[in-house]
Amino acid sequence: MPTGAAMSDSLKDRIALEIRTTGPMSIATYMALCLSHPRDGYYRQGRPIGSAGDFITAPEISQMFGELIGFFFVNLWQQIGEPKSFTLLELGPGRGTLMADLLRAATKADGFADALHLQLFESSPPLRTEQATRLGDYHPYWSESLDVAAGDPVFVIANEFFDALPLRQYVRATDGWHERLVGHDGDTLMFGLSPIPIANDAMPVAVQSAAPGEIYETNLAAARVIQQLSTTIARQGGALLAIDYGYARTQTGDTLQAVRDHGFANVLDRPGETDLSAHVDFETLAAVATTAGLVAPPLATQGDFLMRLGIAERAKSLARANPQTADAIATALTRLTAPEAMGTLFKVLCIMSPGLQPAGFAA
Ligand code: SAH
Repeated sequence: MPTGAAMSDSLKDRIALEIRTTGPMSIATYMALCLSHPRDGYYRQGRPIGSAGDFITAPEISQMFGELIGFFFVNLWQQIGEPKSFTLLELGPGRGTLMADLLRAATKADGFADALHLQLFESSPPLRTEQATRLGDYHPYWSESLDVAAGDPVFVIANEFFDALPLRQYVRATDGWHERLVGHDGDTLMFGLSPIPIANDAMPVAVQSAAPGEIYETNLAAARVIQQLSTTIARQGGALLAIDYGYARTQTGDTLQAVRDHGFANVLDRPGETDLSAHVDFETLAAVATTAGLVAPPLATQGDFLMRLGIAERAKSLARANPQTADAIATALTRLTAPEAMGTLFKVLCIMSPGLQPAGFAA
């Protein structure tokens, strides 16, 4: 307990108390507390997304993003014979912008709106309120779990959701790997290493030749979400589309990052006031899905995916309809697709029932 001062009750103090009581914690535990603590977690308060928040996401850049994803799902819905009832589930819908754009476009297809059951998976109460405002007309249902209505096909969309799930880090040493942990020194939180070595051959082959000091990240939470939804899709039919920054092949690298006010911050500084995220290991997630019986076409970059779906043509027709916003539309197109912007860092994973031909992926 801090000496001399009255014990304060900030999230940082409670994390320090927990470390004093039970020892250093995994980065996954730290990240889960920082993001999802019921009172002080980052996503429980405030408005992280948008120009007034800490970061901007693709759907907040342009309506074109959600509209094209709407077209993507209408196309799959048609491929499975336009079922009269299906679930559309969004993981981490943020402000509801993506889904509002998606549905405005998709419900132009005859029968889509009548067949739709909209399910939202969202842990943040203030963001749920925003979603209710934007999506109320579609009568969404907010679920506490990833269970979906039995029987119906299910389509899942997740943009910048998997990067927010808690991950663990392991550091290569001469005697194997050691988990990287969060401990503290006085009032300062700091990283340390577990004293227990993990044998190199217990790690994925892709990282076994890592040099000492290199970091390997695993995300059990992400894998479990994919496993559960893959099992459901394998049974009921459907597909999941996940868009996020990440890498196509399992590799080493410390990608844990903290963002506040549109800039990078220290991961251990101001817990609960800073967004924490990490790159997504898409290879591992695709492998979990294929083990569950789904198929995954080769990952697409966000730029290629949107171009194949016709974003350039959509930008032209929007600019024709609103000449005064032509410059803003051109800028948005570049931000979403250019390699030096979001175009190649962001990748698109599709996992789906066998036999479907997803639009936007290389044939
Ligand atoms: N998809 C939105 C928001 C991305 S930010 C967009 O593209 O703008 C991440 C979203 O996931 C937020 O809505 C956040 O509240 C939600 N989220 C993060 N961790 C979650 C969890 N464990 N369970 C449910 N929702 C979560």
